[in-house]
Amino acid sequence: MKFAITSKGNPTSNALMHKMRAYLQDFEMVYDEDQPDIVISVGGDGTLLYAFHRYSSRLDKTAFVGVHTGHLGFYADWVPTEIEKLVIAIAKTPYQIIEYPLLEVMIRYRHGGKETRYLALNESTVKSLVGTLVMDVEIRGDHFERFRGDGLCVSTPSGSTAYNKALGGAIIHPSLHSIQLAEMASINNRVFRTVGSPLILPEHHTLVLKPVNAFDFHVTIDHLTVMHRDVKSIQFKVAKEKVRFARFRPFPFWKRVHDSFISDD
Ligand code: NAP
Repeated sequence: MKFAITSKGNPTSNALMHKMRAYLQDFEMVYDEDQPDIVISVGGDGTLLYAFHRYSSRLDKTAFVGVHTGHLGFYADWVPTEIEKLVIAIAKTPYQIIEYPLLEVMIRYRHGGKETRYLALNESTVKSLVGTLVMDVEIRGDHFERFRGDGLCVSTPSGSTAYNKALGGAIIHPSLHSIQLAEMASINNRVFRTVGSPLILPEHHTLVLKPVNAFDFHVTIDHLTVMHRDVKSIQFKVAKEKVRFARFRPFPFWKRVHDSFISDD
């Protein structure tokens, strides 16, 4: 089996990366940064986001596992003291794969040209370059509302514990194939009105944002921020691709939520 390891880059994560690499090679596993069957991310959830994007073109062939060198993460849930156990599990046991849904973002332009497609593991956000973001929100082809405010965030279920949570969005179990739209500081008064609540859309529903008075935006895809000019529409839906995590022991999602946000007793 071929493996790769990505590190957060700090001394603790780098040391752990070298240790794991040597252990796995002792088990005759092959280090292959280009075509790994399994990618071990050492750092935090942010590190796993980087690893995901590095290998996003081969999601059907790659499984991810995360070791955290800081606090417990949602994607990085192994601790450094467990790495011998993890290495043996990777090298010796056929692991179970669990799949989480991803968000597909499709950006189309007013001048035509090639649309841009992204996959997000956590979320995509849209903000204007200057002033208030004004967007017509369409769900399944029907006008839903005209949004005015700081921005909009569309997240995956596994990303619902990240930026989405800070915006008052719901935490969604990753077995629910859905996307969630959350508002950032919408303007609500007698003239301007939005629904005000986060919306959760099922797999077969598409969400489209259409610019009203300005056409240049900052669009984030997880940790990446890209400026898009002359935008005609931004479409979001549950992607056909999934991210695959290698599972070696049960660690239920709600336990991770509890241990991350309530207490790890
Ligand atoms: P960062 O600003 O360095 O870190 C953002 C924090 O979000 C880190 O503590 C990270 O955990 C945590 N995180 C990432 N994915 C998560 C998940 N699925 N559930 C719970 N927490 C999660 O940025 P980054 O490391 O490049 O990560 C980019 C992410 O930051 C974005 O995808 C977005 O979700 C998040 N973000 C959050 C806010 C906010 O909450 N107000 C604002 C902007 C961006 P680790 O420490 O384990 O890496």
